[in-house]
Formats: sequence, C-alpha cells, structure tokens
Amino acid sequence: MASRAAKDRWKTYYRILDNPLLALFPCDDCKRFRKSCVFIADCSLTPCAECARRGRTCGSSSLASFDRAEDELVAEIDTDKHKIDQLLSELIAAKARLERNEKMLEAASKRTQKKLTSLLHASPLNGSHCPTAEDAVLEEFVSREL
Ligand SMILES: [Zn+2]
Ligand SMILES: [Zn+2]
Repeated sequence: MASRAAKDRWKTYYRILDNPLLALFPCDDCKRFRKSCVFIADCSLTPCAECARRGRTCGSSSLASFDRAEDELVAEIDTDKHKIDQLLSELIAAKARLERNEKMLEAASKRTQKKLTSLLHASPLNGSHCPTAEDAVLEEFVSREL
C-alpha cells in the first residue's frame, strides 16, 4: 500500500501531465536521467513532473547559470551604453572644437590675404619707386656707353 505522501506525489505528477509545458531548460535530474522535463503550463507548481513524482527538489543549474549569464549581459550592456554615451559626448565636444578652429583659421587666412593684397597693391604716394638691383645695372651700362 502506497503511503499518503506517495499518493499525493503521483496526484501532483498527473496534475502536471494534464496541462504540461516542456521546460526550456530541463532540471538537473531530468537532464541526468534523460527524461523530458515537464512543468505545469499555468506555472502554479514549481517542481517538474518527474521531481514531483519522486518527491525531489527540482532545480536547474543550467537555468541558474542562464540567470547568471543574463545578469552579466545586463551589466555588460550597461557598461557599453555608458561608454558609448561618454564617447559620444567626447565626439560632440571634439566636433564643436574642430568647427570653431576651422572658423578661426578661415578668419585668420582671410585677414592674411587682405594684408598681402593691400601690400602688393600699395602704390607709393610720391610716385617714385625704390631702386632695384636691375636699375643699378642699367645705370652702370648707360654710364659706360656714354
Ligand atoms: Zn525535470
Ligand atoms: Zn525537476
């Protein structure tokens, strides 16, 4: 004669099999004994059918490691987001600096151009021009000829 506890276990087992949902991550025992790990579809019971029948605690180290992996992923994503935000603000600052410097350079080169142009086109007010080396040679030639 089966004990009352054993009867209850079988009752639970059949209750789960009435409305089964195959576990995405089989519990450790089902994995070890190569059983299909089935939970009740409405999630009202935590053990899987096999563990309920055997009166064992149902646990999944793969699920736990999956949880851990998920936590690690969340942390990694947070870190990357933070890094991207930081890099983006650095990029924006660098771009603003670049644009400012380009404007400054443009203004400076315009000023230089203006200065050069005014120097090149400056005509002497008294109409004379500075003697050049060429003038000196010409003068010497003329004086020899005479
Ligand atoms: Zn199981
Ligand atoms: Zn189980």
